[in-house]
Amino acid sequence: MSKTNEWAASQKIIETLQQQGFEAYVVGGAVRDIVLGKPATDIDIATSALPEEIKSTFPRSIDVGIAHGTIVVLMDECAIEVTTFRTDGKYVDHRRPTHVTFVRSLEEDMKRRDFTMNAMAQTRDEEIIDLFGGKVDIQNGIIRTVGDPNHRFAEDALRMLRAIRFSAQLNFQLEEKTSEAITNNAISIQNISVERITNELEKIWLSAFPINALKEIEKTKIGQWLPGSLNWSPEMWEQFDDNKATVHGWAFLSLLQNKDKQEKIPRLYRLSNLQKIEIQQIVKAVHIRKQRFFSTVDLYQFSEQTLVTAEKFVKILFPTIETTDSTTIVENKKALPIQSIKELSITGNDLMNWLDKPGGPWLKEMINEIVQAILHKEINNHPEQIKEWIKNESRHKN
Ligand code: ATP
Ligand code: MG
Repeated sequence: MSKTNEWAASQKIIETLQQQGFEAYVVGGAVRDIVLGKPATDIDIATSALPEEIKSTFPRSIDVGIAHGTIVVLMDECAIEVTTFRTDGKYVDHRRPTHVTFVRSLEEDMKRRDFTMNAMAQTRDEEIIDLFGGKVDIQNGIIRTVGDPNHRFAEDALRMLRAIRFSAQLNFQLEEKTSEAITNNAISIQNISVERITNELEKIWLSAFPINALKEIEKTKIGQWLPGSLNWSPEMWEQFDDNKATVHGWAFLSLLQNKDKQEKIPRLYRLSNLQKIEIQQIVKAVHIRKQRFFSTVDLYQFSEQTLVTAEKFVKILFPTIETTDSTTIVENKKALPIQSIKELSITGNDLMNWLDKPGGPWLKEMINEIVQAILHKEINNHPEQIKEWIKNESRHKN
C-alpha cells in the first residue's frame, strides 16, 4: 500500500474520531520521520477513545492487542494501528508490563514513550506537539530518554538496545547521561528474550551506520551481557557496509569470534536454518580465501553474493591478503562454462540409456564428474561430446 494512501487513511481516521469528540494524533516513529524530513514508515495513531469506542466507531477493525489498547482499523485498503492513550502498569523483571492503564490525556501517553524523538504527536492540521524537546534533539542528532534514563532502562531493559539501534539507523549519538545509564543497567539486558535482542541486532546489521552501535556496545560494556558474551571488536566494523541482508552481519560477527563461539552464534541467537546455512557459506568462503584465490570449482559452488561478501570481509579482516574487486569476481563467475547443474545439456535418463544401467548412486557421481570436466573445459556442455567422454571414462574404469 502506498504511503500517500496510508496518510490519507490515517487522516480520515483522525477526523472521524475527532467528530466523535475524541482526541487523535499521529504518534511515534512516523512523527520522528516527518521531523527528519523522511517519508514516514508505518503510521500509528493514538487516541483518547477507549478500545471499545474505537471498535464501535470503525466496524471494519481487528483486535490485535486489545489488552494493550491496540485496534487495527481498516480504511480504504489500508490497515492502521489505533491505540488508546495509556500508561504502563508496574514493570516486573525489567520487561514491559503485562497490563496497562488507559488514560484520557495525551501527555500521560507521551511520558511512557522511550525517547524524546519518539514522544511527539502530530495533529490533523500538521502541528507538532513536542512536550520533551524531541525536535531539538532530532536537529542535534541526539537520543535521549524521556525522563531519568536510569529509571527508564530499569523499567524496560530493551530500551537500551533500542537506543543503540537507533544510533545506527539515524547516525545519532546517545546523550551522555543516557549512555551512562546503559552502562549502569547493562546487566539487566539478560531479562530480555533472545528474539527481541536478535531483532534489534538485525536492525543494526541492516542499518547505514552499524559502527555507531558497535562503538556504543563497547563503550557501555553491554556486549558482555548479550548471549554468548561475544567479541564485538568495534574497530573492525568501521568498513563494514554489507547491510543488504542480516546474514552478512551475523557472518561478520562470527568471523570475529574464535572457532567454538563462531559455531554457536546461530543457536544462541535462534537464527533460522536458512540463515545458518548462508552464514556457514560465507565463513567457509572466507576461510578458503585466507589460503588461496577462489578456484573454478569455488566460483561454481558459491553464490555470487557469498563470493563477493567473503572477498570484502577478507579485505577488512585480513588487510595483508591481496584481494580482487567484486566486478572481477562476478565476471569470472559469469564466464564459467556452466552456472548450475540445471544448465547441463543431458539428463540422468540419458546416462542410464547410454550406459544401459539402472539408476543408483553412480548417477550423481557421474553427473558431478561431467560438471567438473565441463568447468575445467575438458569437454563442452554438448550431448554428443558428453556421450563420447563418458564412454571413454567408463572404459577406463572397468
Ligand atoms: P521503527 O518501527 O522504525 O523501528 P518506531 O519508533 O516506530 O521505530 P516501534 O517499535 O514501532 O518503533 O514503536 C512505536 C512507538 O512506541 C515508538 O516510537 C515509541 O514511542 C513507543 N515504544 C516502542 N517501544 C517502546 C519501549 N520499549 N518503551 C517505551 N516506548 C516504546
Ligand atoms: Mg514502528
